[in-house]
This record gives sequence, structure tokens and C-alpha cells, in this order.
Amino acid sequence: MKIKILGSGGGESFPAPFCSCKHCEEARKLGGKNLRTLSQTLINEDLLIDMPADTNCHAIAHGVNLGKVESALITHIHYDHFIPAVALTHGGVQAHNLKYKNFNFYGASNVKEKCEALFTLYGVGSEVKNSVLFNEIEPYKTTIVGKYKVIGIKAMHAVSLNSLNYVIFDNDKSLLYLIDSGYPEEDNLKFLESLNIKFSAVIMDSTFGVGIRRASKFHMSFLDNIELKEELIKRKIADNSTKFVITHLTHNLTESHEKTEEIFKGTNIDVAYDGYEIEV
Ligand SMILES: [Zn+2]
Ligand SMILES: [Zn+2]
Ligand SMILES: [Zn+2]
Repeated sequence: MKIKILGSGGGESFPAPFCSCKHCEEARKLGGKNLRTLSQTLINEDLLIDMPADTNCHAIAHGVNLGKVESALITHIHYDHFIPAVALTHGGVQAHNLKYKNFNFYGASNVKEKCEALFTLYGVGSEVKNSVLFNEIEPYKTTIVGKYKVIGIKAMHAVSLNSLNYVIFDNDKSLLYLIDSGYPEEDNLKFLESLNIKFSAVIMDSTFGVGIRRASKFHMSFLDNIELKEELIKRKIADNSTKFVITHLTHNLTESHEKTEEIFKGTNIDVAYDGYEIEV
């Protein structure tokens, strides 16, 4: 299972376009791994997680051919995770030689509503409209998504929007994707235990950076990330071979990539950056 983080920034990206705080100014000056676009991840070459406004730029910057992507799992409809303008170019004269005739969205029912509203707003033709399909995820049930088995779990984040975190199985490999999410509640940890697997990789929300433990109910801090890693190992949901990664970093509570890596030194937790790639 190849996992590529296309965008490692939080809600406003990092640097935030309108912001002149010292972290944003430093990121602009340093460039490279300090430039974090909106959250999106690619699994192998055919499964996306989320579709933010930066999707076009991600495809260009990282050499990703979206015509080879069969499906996108949507975590939730916050603006930094779901502005599916790029779906308006799926098909017709805008996309030749598509590998898959249809593009399949998976998520809560509001994913369909939002995307259809966008089609209406821009007067998208039936050729493109009919090629984009929507599938509702029922939490805690297994859904077949292309060649993957996927389980959506209720996220501790924007609960009224039915936000989802995901468990993704690619043959014998498995990923726990916790973006966006606060520290998981006991019910979810029990559910993960019941799956009786050790995850190959765990990707964690780190929006609250250097903030205190449980600084937010709906996002995690670095202390929460380190605690969660130990908790998952204790519960035998993960072990020392599990790859742990943090992403969704923001200017308010995170400094440079280098300083963040320094904080995580010795924890065996990787700090993601745009273009970070692992194979598990
Ligand atoms: Zn977010
Ligand atoms: Zn800033
Ligand atoms: Zn969110």
C-alpha cells in the first residue's frame, strides 16, 4: 500500500494566504517542506482521501493523473476537505482516455448534496454529471470501494456534518486515517480493537500542535498524538512496525518543519509534508 500525502496543511493552509503571523512569514521565507497545502492523501494511484480546492495543484505538483483515480473517500464537507470543483472536469472534452468511466465519491449524504449544488451553480453538462457517482458510507459497516475494503467510523469532529474517519484495507495492509479528528473516544477504540488487526499505518490529525493535552475535543495536539500511539500499541491495535504519521498542521500552533521534527525525535512518529510518501 503506497500512501502519499498531497497536502499536509490545516484549514487555512500554511502559510495561510491572508496571514502575516511570524509562523506564516517564516514558512514563506524557508519554503520547501514548510509550505503546506490543504489536506488530501492518495492511496496507490486510484484512491483519494478528500478533495479540497488545492486538488488541481496537487495533481500538477506531484505528477498525479486523476484519470487513474477510481474513487474518493470524503471525510467531511468542511471547506478545506471538500470543494470538488475538479470533478466538473471529469469526462467530455476535458478528460480523455479515462481509466475508469465513473468517478465515485464515498461519504456522508451531504457530499452528494454539495457536489450536485456545485454542478447546478456552474451549469455542468450531463456528460460530466452522469459520470460522477455518489455512495453513502454507513459507519461501522464494511463498504467495498474498488479493490479496497473500507470502514467509516464516526469522527470526533464536526459531528453535525456526520464527519468520518476511515479504516482502509488493501489486501493484508491496513490504514487508520484520523483526519480531522479529536482524540478518539472509547467507543471507537473498542471498535478498532474488535477488528482484531494491527494497523500497517496510522495517520493522525495534529491541528493543535504544541497546544496542551486535549486542547480541543475536535482536533489533536502533539501530546495527544504521542499518547494515542502508545494507547493503540497498548490495545494491540498497532505495534512497533506500524508507521505513525502526523499531518493537518497549522500556523497557529506549529513552527517550522525542522522544529516540529525535533519535537517528535525519538517517538517514531513521522511529520508529514506535501509529497511525503511511504509504502507499508
Ligand atoms: Zn481540516
Ligand atoms: Zn499565520
Ligand atoms: Zn474539519
